[in-house]
Parts: sequence; structure tokens; C-alpha cells
Amino acid sequence: MTTLKHLINGKKITGTSATKFNIYNPSTGKVVNQIQGASAMDVCQAVDAAGLAFESWRKVTPSKRAQIMFNYRDLLYKNLDELAQLNSIEHGKTLADSKGEVLRGIEVVEFCSAISTHLKSDFTADVSTNIDSYNLRQPIGVCAGITPFNFPAMVPMWMYPVAIACGNTFILKLSEKVPSCGLRISELIHEAGLPKGVLNTIVGDKEAVDEILTNPQIKAISFVGSTPVGEYIYQQGSKHNKRVQALCGAKNHMIVMPDADLEQSTSAIIGAAYGSAGERCMAISVVVAVGKKTADQLIESLIPQVKALKIGAYDELGVEMGPVISSQSQKNILDYIKSGVDEGASLVVDGRQATKQKKGFFIGGCLFDHVKSGMSIYTDEIFGPVLCVVRVNNYIEALKLVNEHKYGNGSTIFTRDGDTARHFTNHVQVGMVGVNIPIPVPVAIHSFGGWKKSLIGGSAIHGMEGVRFYTQLKTVTSRWPSGIRKGTQFHFESGKDV
Ligand code: NAD
Repeated sequence: MTTLKHLINGKKITGTSATKFNIYNPSTGKVVNQIQGASAMDVCQAVDAAGLAFESWRKVTPSKRAQIMFNYRDLLYKNLDELAQLNSIEHGKTLADSKGEVLRGIEVVEFCSAISTHLKSDFTADVSTNIDSYNLRQPIGVCAGITPFNFPAMVPMWMYPVAIACGNTFILKLSEKVPSCGLRISELIHEAGLPKGVLNTIVGDKEAVDEILTNPQIKAISFVGSTPVGEYIYQQGSKHNKRVQALCGAKNHMIVMPDADLEQSTSAIIGAAYGSAGERCMAISVVVAVGKKTADQLIESLIPQVKALKIGAYDELGVEMGPVISSQSQKNILDYIKSGVDEGASLVVDGRQATKQKKGFFIGGCLFDHVKSGMSIYTDEIFGPVLCVVRVNNYIEALKLVNEHKYGNGSTIFTRDGDTARHFTNHVQVGMVGVNIPIPVPVAIHSFGGWKKSLIGGSAIHGMEGVRFYTQLKTVTSRWPSGIRKGTQFHFESGKDV
């Protein structure tokens, strides 16, 4: 067992909170690491370091910051196997999935390597006689990120590389359930040349978060996690005059039209619903089958594949689905499965035997048919390997279902019909849309974010939205002495006046 430490001002520090966190290997249910949590005082120490570092970091040219991102990218690639191992042991996802996650994070670092281009401003000559105007995007100051357990590497990398590349300094508050990979990638950016104090990484719970929310030196907060916590972060952070973006929970629907390729749709559903044990904010948790024939055929082809899912520890050969994160999460998911049965949905594949057969926090793939929109398995985010199939008569009913759901993270349609696909992309009320794509996660040059209860604060993450979130706009209007006319002027002037 390793005792982990926080990384504050370039140094490894033992936390001073009274809470010590046990970190589990969910495949065995055993504790693998520990960390003494970060107290409010530790957060203040990190904020002071970040505040001091900001004074010099903001003056470092974007191309020098980009150079660190180039170095960082190389180091991340070099250490990919180690990072995947650290990720999987604490999270439970397969090694291949962990590698994919880190690679998705590296894409953000690559985006940041071009920060000079992203910060390039607009210049307009002669907005009025002898007057020019241009925009600057300047850093905000000390920013903070609060991250969830389900992407221990990628979600932190959605945040701090962009913030830092824009000239800010950063406090990264990792999930207390999966800190090792986030701490290691924070070390690596220092090896890449980042000056101390620019990124400070801590591990803690509400105690640390509450200091982040109220500390006057922190100017902006990025949060990714569940909706109730996101609402709290948004309300408290805004109340304390911070810019806040909160990316929250989800219930992502896949509509399968009668003309869709059934084999392709089935494979897509299996990967998107059960990959990472359904613990992805873009997992497909609802399939909306259009027409009885489509639904019957889909259920028939899904049942054997869900039953055949190879469940096991992250490093077992050929394993497709690992455990869920904790015994608490396992219990919540089992409660949902029971409530689905009690409410009258048909549990056509019952994965609950795996919980009894295996040590660790396992649940086998579960498949519900005949799910209705009022059931809790439909309304709530379960965040486990539980897929609901809802049957509807036509496309309009399917679209209405997606649009009436409180969450609006992602949704996808499987069809061969261009008209339907086009109507769907234009009218569906979610932030990320797929057409014959099971999990439409935007790549790093685009931005990630949902609608409705899936995004509070309206600001999506990474890509140009990320650059806008971590910078403040300044518009300069200038004239030189030779262009100034004589006399005092009391009226507003427009470019057309002279
Ligand atoms: P969570 O909300 O429990 O925790 C997220 C973060 O908030 C953690 O760092 C945690 O320490 C902190 N936290 C938890 N309770 C808190 C409280 N009462 N006060 C202050 N801080 C608190 O989420 P999780 O279980 O770690 O992650 C799963 C959730 O994250 C799911 O709902 C999933 O949909 C969501 N998620 C969303 C996205 C997205 O982009 N929309 C991406 C990944 C995960």
C-alpha cells in the first residue's frame, strides 16, 4: 500500500485534514493506497502558491507555454503504460480503456500546444477616423477544477492544460476515490518544465471544496460530477463571484430506427452501454426502439451478447467490463435494479449473480425491456451496467422522449435516412449529438458540454469554449496623437460621423 501525497508549490505534501481516504482496487475490494485529505488550510497554501506563481506565469509568452505542452505530450506518451495501470487499479476499467482515456487527455494537451493560435486576436483598422480597435484574451488568475471518479486522467486534462496554456494558475482537486493517475500526470507536467506553483494538485472532499468555493483569490471553477453536487458548486461559487462551469449527470438515449443496420446497432449498444461498467457520462443508458419489429429484433440480438460479456479485473486477458467503483455504488445500482423489477419493467438479463460470485464490486450486465418513462430506472442516472429499452411507435414519439428528459448530455440516432438524421440533429435538445455514432464525445478541438441538467453555467469545456472560459475579453480602442482632432466633443461618435 502506498501513502500518497498532495502536490503543492512543486512539493509533495502530507494533508492536514482529519480525514484519511482509503483508495480501493474495486476488482478485489481491497485498499491499495491511502491519503490524508487536504484541509481548508492546505487549499489556502495551494491558493497562495498559485497566486504568487500567477504574477510571473501570466508574463510567460504563449509560445513558451506551448513548448511546455509539447514536452508534456511526449512525457505522457512515454509513460502511457504506467498511467493506464495507475488508472485501472483504482478505477477498475480495463487497461485498454484507461489507455484510450489518457490518449483522449493527450489530445487536449495537443490542442494547447497551439495556444498561440487560439489566443490570436482580432484587429480592425480605422473603426473611425485614425482609430483602430482590437481584442485581447487575458488570463483570469487562479482557477480551480473539481473532478469526478470516472475519468481520473481525462477529465482533469480537460481543465488544467487549457487554463495553464491561457496563462492562469490552477488548483486541481482530484476525486478522493481515484487520485493516483491525476497526481502522476501532475508530476509529469513539472518534469516537462512547468514552474512550481502553476499547477497545485490536491485530494480531498467537501472540506477542500468548500474552501475552493469561498476563497476570494480563486476566480473561476470548473466542475465535473453529479448534478446535485454541480448545483451546489454553481450556487456557492457564483455567490462568491466566481465564474463557474458545472458539467453534470446524464441519461443518454440512442434512438434505433426501423431502417438501421441491426448488427451495427447492437454492437454499438453493447460497447456504449456496458463499456467501463456504464460509468461514463456519455454511456448509452436508454435505447429507444422505434416500432415493435425493431424492438423485438434488438432485444433478441442483445440478450445473448449481454449474457456473454466477459467480466473481470482490469488486467485479466480478454476482459470487457470491470467492476463499479465502490460497494456503495454497487448497492445503489442493485437498489435501482430491484426498483425496476418492482415497477414492472422486464429484466430480460439479470446480472446480479456476478455480485455473489465475485469478490470486489462487480455487477453483471443488466437489460430491461418495456421500460416506461415514469420509472426511476428511466428518470434517474444509475451510472452502472444497466440498460433500459423503451418501445415507441414512431420517430416523433422517440424525439419527444429524449427532449422531455431532464438530462441533455448526449443522444444519438441509428438510421440510414438522411432526412430523419437531419431533423434529429436540428431538433434534439441535448448538447452532443451522434448520427450512427454510439458515444458522440467531441474531440479536443471541439468543445464538450450538455444541455439542461447536464450543464449548469452554460459554458462547455475544452476547445475554443475552454479558451473563452479561462480568459477574459478586453477590447482596446486606440488613436495616436497625430490623429486627434482639436476641441472637446460631447456627443457619442460612430465610424460614419467623420
Ligand atoms: P460526485 O458529484 O460525487 O463528485 C464529483 C466531485 O465533487 C469529487 O471531486 C468529489 O470529491 C466532490 N464532491 C462530492 N460530494 C461533494 C459535496 N457534497 N460537496 C462538495 N464536493 C463534493 O461525482 P462522481 O460520483 O465522482 O462522478 C460521477 C458523476 O459525474 C456522474 O453523475 C457523471 O454523469 C458525472 N460526470 C459528468 C461528466 C460530464 O461531462 N457531464 C463527465 C464525467 C462524469
